[in-house]
Amino acid sequence: MVNSHLSSSVLVLNRSFLPIHVTSVRRAFSLIFCGGAQAVDANYQTFDFESWLLHPASPDADRIGTISGGIAVPRVILLRHYDRMPKRQIRFSRVNIFSRDRNTCQYCGKNPQRSELNLDHVVPRSQGGRTTWENVVCCCVACNRRKGGRTPAQAGFRLPRKPVRPRWTPLLSVAPSNVRYREWRPFLIPTELSSVMSSDKPGSFGDSKIAELELAV
Ligand SMILES: [Zn+2]
Repeated sequence: MVNSHLSSSVLVLNRSFLPIHVTSVRRAFSLIFCGGAQAVDANYQTFDFESWLLHPASPDADRIGTISGGIAVPRVILLRHYDRMPKRQIRFSRVNIFSRDRNTCQYCGKNPQRSELNLDHVVPRSQGGRTTWENVVCCCVACNRRKGGRTPAQAGFRLPRKPVRPRWTPLLSVAPSNVRYREWRPFLIPTELSSVMSSDKPGSFGDSKIAELELAV
């Protein structure tokens, strides 16, 4: 009965059909079996354990077990009692700062390769500046050098926008690059991705950049 599908991924929706998590098939089955979740099919129909066993899954569905053809693996489950959003934060990291700032120098607006980008303390550490989302921006090597240990005002630079901590949304935990199964797609609506970053204009954020944001768990 040991089957590699047991550790493959299942998308978890809260009661409002919002994606909140990715779990394993093993955990998904145990949730469905004990009544904590229902399997969801391509028509958004929900199934408890018994009805899922009778569900005519698509012929190419992954299956586990050996008894009479095995049980189809649900790729999406719906939690029955959970309607809050999990509290999570986006990890403060070099790559996440670059993603927030779209690989763009916040002083001159250039968009070079990542190898040509640095992190800059807006208020330099030598002047008491802290290493936080609000005081660190993406900056090209040339601007970084010109600015040196000065504040933007002292260096004659201007920040086009105030750096902020990115807001977490459920969609971040299942970034488009992590959409492993077509069954997940209807629940990961691309237009909603534009609201991922609080400092963004609607629709201005590319999928590839969201995919790079790492979550602190
Ligand atoms: Zn620059």
